[in-house]
Amino acid sequence: MAYTWEPKWELFTVEIDGIRFRTCRDRITGLIACPVCIHAASRCMNEPSPLNYQYENSFFYTVEDLIIHMKNYHIGEYRKKLEDLQMKLSEEES
Ligand SMILES: [Zn+2]
Repeated sequence: MAYTWEPKWELFTVEIDGIRFRTCRDRITGLIACPVCIHAASRCMNEPSPLNYQYENSFFYTVEDLIIHMKNYHIGEYRKKLEDLQMKLSEEES
């Protein structure tokens, strides 16, 4: 299947359960992008693209799906880094 979809990003503010952040949404399909995976700051907030950024395409139909993705994927990743750091620190102590 040819991949021909060109997203037309617009700024979209997510507000759910007291969480508020901005990301990109496609004007045509309404798909919401994960702000971490696509680096929303440079895609639709006119900020410069970072060097060596690991871009991934993650798009969601609903805000709920996006939140689940962020919780499972990004917060999990972050937690793992913290656990690794904690382990390293406790090894150094003993
Ligand atoms: Zn993501």
